[in-house]
Amino acid sequence: SILYLYTMGGCILCRKQEQVSDEIGQTPDNNDKNQKNYNNNDGFINQSSTTIPSQEKSQLQTIKMEDFQPLKLLGKGSFGKVVLVRYFNNNKIYAMKILKKEEIIRRKQINHIKTERLLLEKLNHPFIAQLQFAFQDTTKLYLVTEFLQGGELYFHLRRKKFFKESTAKFYGSQIFLAIDYMHKNGYIYRDLKPENILIDKDGYIKLTDFGLSKIVLEDNNEDKNTVCGTLEYMAPEMITGKVYDKNVDWYSFGIVLYEMLCGNFPFKLRNRKIEGSIFDEKIEYPENINR
Ligand code: ADP
Ligand code: MG
Repeated sequence: SILYLYTMGGCILCRKQEQVSDEIGQTPDNNDKNQKNYNNNDGFINQSSTTIPSQEKSQLQTIKMEDFQPLKLLGKGSFGKVVLVRYFNNNKIYAMKILKKEEIIRRKQINHIKTERLLLEKLNHPFIAQLQFAFQDTTKLYLVTEFLQGGELYFHLRRKKFFKESTAKFYGSQIFLAIDYMHKNGYIYRDLKPENILIDKDGYIKLTDFGLSKIVLEDNNEDKNTVCGTLEYMAPEMITGKVYDKNVDWYSFGIVLYEMLCGNFPFKLRNRKIEGSIFDEKIEYPENINR
């Protein structure tokens, strides 16, 4: 979710609407003509590199919403919804993220959505959700990933209040490996929190939601002082609008680890503001925590 996204300077988000329509393959006044090309060569779909199981490859040309049966709502995010679907072609169950183009354009999120699609496709790691299909029609974008039936780490944590140290270690080490893998591939995740950490059928974690992730370009600080993410998990250097690096993810990782062990945050929020504590207060650990 993109709750606290605002920019601290000139950045990639400021683009012209016409340019933006083109980029996601839609020219507003000529939908029919363009629709034929959506699954071929527009900016969103790039067939040659899309991760598709081999038996499904022949279906890609014509893949569309009608090939799926919606079963139930899994989650509602800031730009659309995530729906449990059945793919008629193989009878398998998937999670489908549906994003409204109009909303993406209106909220200037083109680059974030493009990054999300790119990362889901490119990253290949046991603790990162895998893209299965991506397609679009005149009004919406569809990202289909494996269904993670264990749900959000958030719900498990709320139910238990906090985890045993061994459980926190189990989840923590997987989160660590996923984040480390992203960094090694040149990305900052930027939105690490228990809502974006899902559990698969075997009880292992999978990171999802790459909408806020950032491709780190070595010699380019553009967008590296964008304040985004969720305040409780946000590193001080990001809150104060400084240029930051991948360490913002390790800060969020520390908060998630603390939350898993203690059941609350190390810093308290009042009126949606971190009351100075984040910068100068000592963190308190409950007695039972092994340090
Ligand atoms: P947003 O950018 O709107 O936060 P997310 O990608 O985080 O969107 O998805 C929103 C919610 O939908 C998640 O927090 C989760 O509850 C559910 N969800 C997303 N992907 C899956 C999936 N692959 N399997 C099961 N549930 C999912
Ligand atoms: Mg999310």
